[in-house]
Amino acid sequence: MEVYKPKDSNEKIVKNIVIAAHKDDGEMIGIKAIDDSFKKDESLVMIILTNGSGCPRVGEFKSVSDEDMVEIRTAEQKRAAEIGRYNCLYLLEHSSKEVQDMHTNIKNELVEILKKYPEIENIYIHNPFDKHNTHVGACELAIAAIKELYADGALKKLSKVLGVEVWRGLDWLPDKYKVTIDTTGAEFISQNIMSVFVSQNSAKRYDEAISNRRLANATFDASHESNICTSLMYAIDLMGVVQDVNKNLSDLLTENLDLFEKELRKNL
Ligand SMILES: [Zn+2]
Repeated sequence: MEVYKPKDSNEKIVKNIVIAAHKDDGEMIGIKAIDDSFKKDESLVMIILTNGSGCPRVGEFKSVSDEDMVEIRTAEQKRAAEIGRYNCLYLLEHSSKEVQDMHTNIKNELVEILKKYPEIENIYIHNPFDKHNTHVGACELAIAAIKELYADGALKKLSKVLGVEVWRGLDWLPDKYKVTIDTTGAEFISQNIMSVFVSQNSAKRYDEAISNRRLANATFDASHESNICTSLMYAIDLMGVVQDVNKNLSDLLTENLDLFEKELRKNL
């Protein structure tokens, strides 16, 4: 694990934690926390689980070795931490397989990191219905760590645990579980910070896709209302799973699919 402190780190109280699978995911799922740390009296900590060695590569990165790719992506992630003035960046550097297999040592590392920040109010993670296996593993590991601490009476100020969309949108979620995150006003910092991931954006234009998805979400969110925001992300509310020791992510899936089916059948 590498602990990286940006040169101009934001030293206000850490109220937001972002736990992401890959070096660039945190800037997608955690943009609200990044924007808030510039506008409010708070800061964020970013935790990245994988080393990013197995990513697709094209153009100038086509013949880069796995080892060099890890270094390139680490440099990009640190640059993002500088631009976003994170309080701290934790690079856990595990393989995707270890995350997908939910190695207990990763959960334990998360527990130890989260313990250092007793003022946490919001945690942004991947959503459990993501299409990418590593993202789902990252979500399950994060939930396991958060549940453990919450059951022990830690994380007393925690009010939101949000599973944010990346691979596969969450606009289908029933309203009961769907959380809209208004990112209007965060467009500039988002574009600025996403632009540092040159190795990733050269394979696919994630930087453009993420802002265009948010614009589409804002436009299509409510059919009978005029736009009140121009950038919107969807997330699933995971607080219920954290608070209830008897409830797991599989139960949450069943509840959402049942509600979704009812919603579709009502209109058919
Ligand atoms: Zn990813």
